[in-house]
Amino acid sequence: MHNYTRILIINCYICIEPTIKDMKYLILIDKKSIKRNPNAGSQVTKMFGAREIDFECDKLPDILIDEKNCFISTYKVSNKGVKSDITGYLDNDDLIEELLTNKKYKDCNITINVHNNIETINHFPIPKYSFKYTPLKVKCNECGHEFMSNEFLSMSNDDDDEYRSTVTGCPKCNEYDCCDVRYQNIKEIEHELKL
Ligand SMILES: [Zn+2]
Repeated sequence: MHNYTRILIINCYICIEPTIKDMKYLILIDKKSIKRNPNAGSQVTKMFGAREIDFECDKLPDILIDEKNCFISTYKVSNKGVKSDITGYLDNDDLIEELLTNKKYKDCNITINVHNNIETINHFPIPKYSFKYTPLKVKCNECGHEFMSNEFLSMSNDDDDEYRSTVTGCPKCNEYDCCDVRYQNIKEIEHELKL
């Protein structure tokens, strides 16, 4: 009875194994493209968001024009109509160096504050490696069209994603699952890598 059970198990194994080997196309990783990701595992990336540049000055430098390259928010005005103690925002950072270094604007006594807003982006963990696949010629089972595997219709253009799913849409007839492909997993060649 024991022996019989063992034979059954072996048969099952044999039944499953050929379907794995029968994959028609194996799309290999381009080994030259493999790079180790320095931030592997990280799920958070910091990025620069909108930048705000505010300034204050005793009088407005003549290169600053309200509502053109700056936006004045507060000022004092004398009975002679002269504006002083001005605060406002610069439209961009192009003029910062000019305003701070040109002696012409020294008596304007301008101070500039730059606020870089940092945004936090949450995402799936960054994989250990990034890489590209070597394009392979494949044939659609539905319409017979031959094309390169990097032309598969995909919802994403990201072809160096370790977690890429086996998207196999035919670019000609749009058949969603048009041929049997398997993408090589980085784990299969990880031992060869000296990264
Ligand atoms: Zn097709």
